[in-house]
Amino acid sequence: MARQIVLKNYMEDCVWELLDNVLAQDPEACKCDVCRHDIAALALNRLPPRYVVREEGAVYTKLAMLEAQYRADVYAALTAALMQVKENPRH
Ligand SMILES: [Zn+2]
Repeated sequence: MARQIVLKNYMEDCVWELLDNVLAQDPEACKCDVCRHDIAALALNRLPPRYVVREEGAVYTKLAMLEAQYRADVYAALTAALMQVKENPRH
């Protein structure tokens, strides 16, 4: 079988990975699908993209993915995005 090589924004995985943690810390936050996607989109627009070349289906460990240097930036972007969505939810 031919290997499928894909281009992927690594920040996207980081954002989805940490989104639930950020939502869990705010009991007032809406956790519906529209708000979750809005928060992820806003956060990703604030973060610099980090494109990587990957093999489709390959498994990457969470630890390798969530390097400390990105973690703080992703948390800050998600927190700011959550505030923005809370003020003006689209659901
Ligand atoms: Zn909502």
